[in-house]
Parts: sequence; C-alpha cells; structure tokens
Amino acid sequence: MAEIDYKQVTGMVHSTESFGTVDGPGIRFIVFMQGCKMRCQYCHNPDTWEMETNQSRERTVEDVLKEALGYRHFWGKEGGITVSGGEALLQIDFVTALFTEAKKLGIHCTLDTCALPFRDTPAYHEIFDKLLAVTDLVLLDIKEINDERHKFVTSQSNKNIIACANYLSKKNVPVWIRHVLVPGLTDIDEDLIELGDFVKTLKNVDRFEILPYHTMGEFKWRELGIPYPLAGVKPPTAERVQNAKELMRTESYTDYMKRVHG
Ligand code: SF4
Repeated sequence: MAEIDYKQVTGMVHSTESFGTVDGPGIRFIVFMQGCKMRCQYCHNPDTWEMETNQSRERTVEDVLKEALGYRHFWGKEGGITVSGGEALLQIDFVTALFTEAKKLGIHCTLDTCALPFRDTPAYHEIFDKLLAVTDLVLLDIKEINDERHKFVTSQSNKNIIACANYLSKKNVPVWIRHVLVPGLTDIDEDLIELGDFVKTLKNVDRFEILPYHTMGEFKWRELGIPYPLAGVKPPTAERVQNAKELMRTESYTDYMKRVHG
C-alpha cells in the first residue's frame, strides 16, 4: 500500500491566530478548524459551525505548517501549535497529519476539543490512538456534567464527551479540563460539585480551569442573523467564579446533597 503523504492531506480551515496565549502552554499558533455539531448557547465562534462557508478555505498540512513555522521564534520552550475549532475531531485525519509533520520538527502539539465526535468503540479508538500518539496535550471542554442540562446548553448529549475524558485518563494523556461558567446556565452548584467529583476520578488532569463567560462573540450571531439566546446575560461576578472554584475542588457531591437536602 502506498504511504500517505501527510503534507498533502487537506482540511477545511476557518482561520489561524499567530499569537494565542490561553489555549495551551506558552505562546501558540492556533488553527481554527471549520465545522461543529454542537450549538452552545454561549458559542463565540458560530461562524465555524457549517463545514463550508465563504470564509473557510481548504488547506494542505504543508501550507498550514509553513505559516505556523513563520512564528516559531515566539514559541520559546513551552509554546507550539494548538488545533481548535469549531470541532477539530470532525477532521481528525487532517489534525493527525498536521501533528505528525509538526512532531517531526519537535513542535509541541495541543488539541482543543469538545470531543463530541469521540466514539467508545474499537474502530474509533484505532483512529483516535493515531492522533494521540502525536498529541502532547488535550484541552477538553466539559460544558455540563448533567446530561439533560448539557442537551439544553449545547443541543447534544455529553455521553461521548464523558467517555472521551475516561478514555484519555485510561491512556494517561495529559489534559486540561475547561468549563465555561455562564450565570444561570452552567453555574448550578450541584452540577459544579458533580463535575468536580468527576474530574477527581481522572488521573491525567494537569489543569482544571473555569473560563468565565464573556459576550465578545455576540456580534457574530447578529452578523449571521441568528438570535442570541443569552442576550442580556452578564459575565459572572468574581464571587460566582470563586464559588465555582471552591465547589469544584472541595466539597464532594454526596456531602453537598447531605448539607442541602439533609
Ligand atoms: S463546541 Fe465550541 S465551536 Fe462548537 S458550538 Fe460549542 S463553543 Fe461553539
């Protein structure tokens, strides 16, 4: 069988950012992939949802890597490339090819995912393992631990996402778990505690972060003509962020239920 020329693998890319500072360690070149099947009420990239738009471009690994390497001098020891989205796993072949080529050059590779496309099946594991073999860090968003509320917040079940978190733990792949805190939507105390308890069962978590909701993406919904479901919702106060931090790290779900419900 002919060997794959990873450099010529193509993917639909929404955009790139040369100087990312929050999506992984150090300074990073971020590749935003096109396409996502979630519909998070607070999404700040709704223009990535459709697989093809006027803005997106089909690009080769070679082309994206060449652009990234132009910024390598910023990366220092810690930085590198992060592939985000949209949902990067919808184009897993492209991401695997990009990371394979990047690892040949000694570049730190981070995958930023909501993990919805993950499947807990041997066939998917085989494909996913190829990506994990060239991935240094996974940023995994858990939008809601309560599945019913997850469906309300994102339009999708969290079952594959939780399965992915467990799989990454089993494989001991370093992860940062991230949770966007939206007042009245994803800051329910009992869910935060349950999420904290779940994260404590994982053995591969290097960081567990709360990302306070912000409204910077709201204008994109307007531009796309989609009603913004969180109109009028303000970012969480410092007290609510602190409350979430405390609940997720200290009190167990069982203790909380006993304290609140007796
Ligand atoms: S997973 Fe990310 S890109 Fe997709 S809808 Fe949610 S926030 Fe937006």
